[in-house]
Amino acid sequence: MGVFAMKWKIDDYDGEYRVVSLALNSIVKSDLEKKEDGMLWVDGDEVFLYPEKRKQMVSNDTLTYLKQRNNYDVFEIWQDGRIVLQFDVQSIDNYFFVTGKCNSNCIMCPSPEISRRKGQNTDVTSLIKLAQHVPTNVSHITITGGEPFLIGESIFDFLEFLKRKFEKTEFLFLTNGRIFSVKKYVDLFRETAPVNSIVAIPIHGSKSEIHDAITCAENSLIQTKQGIKNLLKIGTRVEIRLVVCKLNAEDIVNITDMIVNEFPQIEYVSILAMEMTGNAYVNWKKVWIPYRKAFQLIEKAVDHLIKSGITVKLYNFPLCTVESNYWTLCEKSISPEKIRYIETCDMCSMKNACGGLFAGTVKLEKDDLKAIR
Ligand code: SF4
Repeated sequence: MGVFAMKWKIDDYDGEYRVVSLALNSIVKSDLEKKEDGMLWVDGDEVFLYPEKRKQMVSNDTLTYLKQRNNYDVFEIWQDGRIVLQFDVQSIDNYFFVTGKCNSNCIMCPSPEISRRKGQNTDVTSLIKLAQHVPTNVSHITITGGEPFLIGESIFDFLEFLKRKFEKTEFLFLTNGRIFSVKKYVDLFRETAPVNSIVAIPIHGSKSEIHDAITCAENSLIQTKQGIKNLLKIGTRVEIRLVVCKLNAEDIVNITDMIVNEFPQIEYVSILAMEMTGNAYVNWKKVWIPYRKAFQLIEKAVDHLIKSGITVKLYNFPLCTVESNYWTLCEKSISPEKIRYIETCDMCSMKNACGGLFAGTVKLEKDDLKAIR
């Protein structure tokens, strides 16, 4: 969860790692004081740390930054005084990052292999501490990694906390789903998952030869399919994600056949255009397919799902790469800090409705985008 802002700092901080909520006016300050959870109180040009009520030194830049943030934003303060935003009250895209590690190593993953191998785990105590500060009325939070369930059974202590605190929040779990082929994990998830949870699981191929070649993990398709079946059996809402790359674009229609035949009760299918960073960047010759071509190859699959009564969402496709009859399926899905538009977009009548493209994909796509008149 969070956006790293390395330069914001408490200059004379000599404390331990802690989590604080931000108060910018006296009403919020009184509210947060009652919770005794830790607070950063900006009073005019002065900054105080609670519960100690200690005045702290910050640069003018840090003060300006804090004043521009929102009441109830949540920050980590590190031992060296760095202030890192972890929950943005204004964002609809907040997340808890559980671990960088993953038991798959997808060839088109936007994260690099180093993070899969050596990525950091966030310990469950820290996750719970952060969640304690998040306001209960937040509408949506994503739980992500790496593979979040790779930290083991301790993740269920965190889920139990979320279930107790957030009765209405929607939680989206991004997982490769392999862990749910193990019955014990399915049972623990059923007991502890918040009421409004949805589990998003990618399928990369209709056959192991395709899926496992993309995940670089033997038996991963068998495990993922078993995981989906097990979750559906306990009544979990499941989203299936299809990431279109050169290796599976022509197989997407077969995957949708499989979905219609084997998992018709899923919540919806989202079809994603690739983000070209991390492994995807390194392997671009093997995986890259221009968005317009990718859409042409999945069009039949989209029709097939719709005719079978399954909801479809298109993520990350700029509108000019998609036939206009399908624009209503396109979601603005790219995180705000990663969205880019190019010069062509300034002449486009659909710019406001278009979600743009990933910063890391501009070079590959810029000659293919066409302003819509
Ligand atoms: S030209 Fe730019 S704004 Fe218009 S649809 Fe394409 S990417 Fe979106």
